[in-house]
Amino acid sequence: MNKPETTAPAHFLRQIVRADLDSGKHSKIVTRFPPEPNGYLHIGHAKSICLNFGLAQEFGGDCHLRFDDTNPAKEEQEYIDAIKQDVEWLGFQWAGNVRYASDYFDQLHAWAIELIKAGKAYVCDLTPEQAREYRGNLTEPGRNSPFRDRGVDENLDLFARMTAGEFADGAKVLRAKIDMAAPNMNLRDPILYRIRHAHHHQTGDKWCVYPSYDFTHGQSDALEGVTHSICTLEFEDHRPLYEWCLSNLPVPATPRQYEFARLNLNYTVTSKRKLKQLVDEGHVDGWDDPRMSTLSAFRRRGYTPGSLREFCERIGVTRSDAVVDMGVLEFCIREDLDASAPRAMCVLRPLKVTITNYPEGQTEQLHLPRHPKDDMGVRELPFSRELYIDQDDFMVDPPKGYKRLLPGGEVRLRGSYVIRADEAVTDEQGNIVELLCSYDPETLGKNPEGRKVKGVIHWVPAAQSVECEVRLYDRLFRAPNPDKNEEGNTFLENINPDSLLVLKGCRAEPSLASAEAEERFQFEREGYFCVDRKDSKPGQPVFNRTVTLRDSWGQ
Ligand code: ATP
Ligand code: MG
Repeated sequence: MNKPETTAPAHFLRQIVRADLDSGKHSKIVTRFPPEPNGYLHIGHAKSICLNFGLAQEFGGDCHLRFDDTNPAKEEQEYIDAIKQDVEWLGFQWAGNVRYASDYFDQLHAWAIELIKAGKAYVCDLTPEQAREYRGNLTEPGRNSPFRDRGVDENLDLFARMTAGEFADGAKVLRAKIDMAAPNMNLRDPILYRIRHAHHHQTGDKWCVYPSYDFTHGQSDALEGVTHSICTLEFEDHRPLYEWCLSNLPVPATPRQYEFARLNLNYTVTSKRKLKQLVDEGHVDGWDDPRMSTLSAFRRRGYTPGSLREFCERIGVTRSDAVVDMGVLEFCIREDLDASAPRAMCVLRPLKVTITNYPEGQTEQLHLPRHPKDDMGVRELPFSRELYIDQDDFMVDPPKGYKRLLPGGEVRLRGSYVIRADEAVTDEQGNIVELLCSYDPETLGKNPEGRKVKGVIHWVPAAQSVECEVRLYDRLFRAPNPDKNEEGNTFLENINPDSLLVLKGCRAEPSLASAEAEERFQFEREGYFCVDRKDSKPGQPVFNRTVTLRDSWGQ
């Protein structure tokens, strides 16, 4: 659109990449996005995706999609498929085929044997509990495992038998021989291989020993020619081990690891473990429940890929942890949809109105612009004797400053006539069930002479409007930091019981009958909405409210 080009701020990773290209250290950069397929991607992952794919795009390099699949127990094909779909939906394409860390299991295993031969790795029989005890802690150095000085031949034999399936899960591990007194705990003889008799989604039953993350990541980067291996800050302490592996193995390249601060959003959890718990325990209706922080949920709710990319650009990339306000994300989607979403009218809580002085059987076609600024054409809206307005737009005893309809008062129907409320029809309980109004035929598109009509309300024709369901969302958690708040609640106790409001029997203007899955609209005065891609049926749309028209989070 006609938005001014923004020059991307030169965050530190951009500067590093540019300097490496300028100095000739690299002639082409390669990055990678390495999700573990143990859940759906969330908004935090979007930051990593935009950063890794974005840098490659910006500097003419490649970004790989590599599944970090070293833990077969928690991984599933469903997650792999969803992750690929989300990356593409966000607007990125990986270079070459999808890669898997498991593609390199043969090579990693061969390298483990090389380390054993070089006296740099050994098989250890300590139980996990003992190993923890031997490891020491931040203030105390660890102690050497009694198995640390096993001979090379014994280690080779034991590792071969581990690989052949002779031992039970956890009975033995292969460890690097580095330094049990190292101040960095990650260097205290870290685990390289563990026994796990588990079926793997890529390698089937070929393996019963699996490499650790630390023994996999750097070597996979090196094998793929990754130049800049970008990860979140919690891996900073792993960097010496990443470098130890690379410098002790005959790898074909030496990638470098860089860390940045992960994205935290208030009122949101971004941990796959917690998101999975919300799904598994039925607190939400699946990974793509529009209240979730997953990318598939944002998609279903109506967020555009562009708004998420814009958000990731805006929050920047730094090395200091911070919590980003949800308002920033909402700002980005409002800005996008204000420009791109056609306008329409939908009455969420219908109240029938009969225009008593409008001829029975008469209908006139009104034409309303689909967008106030951009030329998106017009939509047809029939006007006749019976229509619906929102129940909230009529009050018998309104507060001061109420600009909508009250007994004897006037209001303009959006894009149509000025009407006056003459009589409210009530049922036996006293509920208002219908309004009898009269219209002023002189007021189509112009103000009545000598009278000021301040209020404009939305409406739909009764006969031709489309019955629909509308889902209104509030934040899923009521605490700004659902994980740790002062009351000591767990994140589940912080769930907002009113996060979903389903309205049935809503009435949308006739042009919405043909709305297709994922189409987005601004419903006048109600917010931005998106046609639900799962539950809508032809002619029976379900609308998700993406975001309200104005920021209501601060209140
Ligand atoms: P979680 O803690 O949610 O399980 P994870 O880090 O274990 O996340 P991975 O699948 O290993 O999930 O993540 C893939 C990539 O995304 C990693 O490089 C990781 O650093 C990055 N990432 C994960 N969460 C965030 C976040 N909140 N902000 C930025 N990057 C993230
Ligand atoms: Mg992880």
